[in-house]
Amino acid sequence: MRITCPLCGARDHREFTYRGAALAVPALDAGEAAWDAHVHLRDNPAGPHEELWQHSMGCGAWLKVRRNTATHEMLDVMLAEDAELAVPGEAS
Ligand SMILES: [Zn+2]
Repeated sequence: MRITCPLCGARDHREFTYRGAALAVPALDAGEAAWDAHVHLRDNPAGPHEELWQHSMGCGAWLKVRRNTATHEMLDVMLAEDAELAVPGEAS
């Protein structure tokens, strides 16, 4: 599996560290339900899934990756700082 870092180009996935689902962090005053959803509720799709990866053995950039979990096909990669993150419980 190869991931194309926007800064470094295509690299082996072993240069990257998976950092979890690409989810927005609720505001501090968002309430118990929003924080419960953020901490405990995760989708487990067999198909496209948005994830955060870090090019930890490269430039260090955080990336938002859209990956098909069934085939491991990389559908989209962008710098996380340029991406909008999904809110748990809301359709993306
Ligand atoms: Zn990189």
